[in-house]
Amino acid sequence: MTYEIVIGLETHTQLLTQTKIFSGSSTRYGAQPNTQANEVDMALPGTLPVMNRAAVEHAIRFGLAVGATIAPRSIFARKNYFYPDLPKNYQISQYEIPVVLGGSLTFFVGDKETTINLTRAHLEEDAGKSLHDNYTGPHGELSTGIDLNRTGTPLLEIVSEPEMRSAAEAVAYAKTLHSLVMWLGICDGNMQEGSFRVDVNVSVRPVGQKEFGTRAEIKNVNSIRAVGKAIDYEARRQIDVLESGGIIRQETRHWDDGEGRTHTLRTKEDADDYRYFPEPDLVPLAPSDEWVQAVRDNLPMLPAARRTALSALTGYDTQSEAIIVVVERGQHDYVQSVVDAGGDAVRALIYVQQAFADAGSVPAVPAADLASLTVLERDGKLSATQAKTLLADLVENGGGDAVAMAAAKGFEAMDNSAVETMVDEAIAADPGEWEKYLAGDEKA
Ligand code: ADP
Ligand code: MG
Repeated sequence: MTYEIVIGLETHTQLLTQTKIFSGSSTRYGAQPNTQANEVDMALPGTLPVMNRAAVEHAIRFGLAVGATIAPRSIFARKNYFYPDLPKNYQISQYEIPVVLGGSLTFFVGDKETTINLTRAHLEEDAGKSLHDNYTGPHGELSTGIDLNRTGTPLLEIVSEPEMRSAAEAVAYAKTLHSLVMWLGICDGNMQEGSFRVDVNVSVRPVGQKEFGTRAEIKNVNSIRAVGKAIDYEARRQIDVLESGGIIRQETRHWDDGEGRTHTLRTKEDADDYRYFPEPDLVPLAPSDEWVQAVRDNLPMLPAARRTALSALTGYDTQSEAIIVVVERGQHDYVQSVVDAGGDAVRALIYVQQAFADAGSVPAVPAADLASLTVLERDGKLSATQAKTLLADLVENGGGDAVAMAAAKGFEAMDNSAVETMVDEAIAADPGEWEKYLAGDEKA
């Protein structure tokens, strides 16, 4: 029998705020345990939560960026469960009415454009951490420690519809979401530190069957690469169970990256188990139209629009690798400023793609210096190889006068007319190779 894989992702995004969602403690990562947990985070009796405006604004920002509806009035709920790293014994979350409703993400899987709908995104507080590994207690005994520094860190839980049908689609979705939240400045995206945590829901069904199969929810998927590996493993496991006559139980599983497999963590709780009820200590969230409009007015141009702009500038396809990479790194404005400084657009794009992988969004080389190098090459004053050498020098020195550098290296101007004829003939003979050459394939 052939099976279809069905995938939905729940992503916990830590929102970039100075202080916690309901208290004034710092959200900084890596501090000594329990030095950033105040009386609210520790749930001392009589303490009350106060909503963090910046967290709400980040949620609205996200909602607008994915074309969602911002709920005019959303409420908070208590999700009750006991765990040592949750001192209140309940988590404040949103249940019936989340702040962000619907929306979608559009991205490419290979060259196929794909849109995945979002169900919702809701605000909630993070829990603390249990320290199991090599933690020793006051008398040196092996023990479990509780660190409440993370308690109350604002989270936006972004829930997709179960619309993905392959590991590749889920990986592309996760990548797109990851770069979007960083682009919007609402999350630092650091997966090692747990700032962006993906739970992967996977089920399988025989091709042609309408109903979904029973799903497993996989936690602890700590990298985007692991999203793909976990799905491949889990789908295979479920198919094997079904093929051998077994049934899939709804459960939460844990991804072990070292072993490359999932393990049962617990059988899945139902919503009933949490005894959700409205949080009486917080008023409903009702952002004014003016506030939402102000957030909308301040949205940065989104990646897709950026790619379109760079495509118009260079004539390259919006899905060409150079454009995707440069936009992903946030270096589009830099390419534009090289062009504004008189540079050749195509070479500006390609140079930036090739030489500034680790340079951040504003490379140290002044735009004008790069511009003059692109012009030297475009005008035939430098061969492509010479230009590459000087590009490497520019990067190493953090800038420089390309004309002087060319002279110092003894890169002589060639006889343009003779070279141009040769080059034109070569390109005419094989235009595809020229494209590859521009994209940096030295073998061409
Ligand atoms: P819960 O909140 O209990 O985890 P939800 O109904 O909110 O349950 O679903 C959580 C996630 O699971 C969503 O991303 C959804 O798309 C996905 N999902 C739901 N049913 C399935 C299924 N049968 N197979 C794969 N994913 C599913
Ligand atoms: Mg869930």
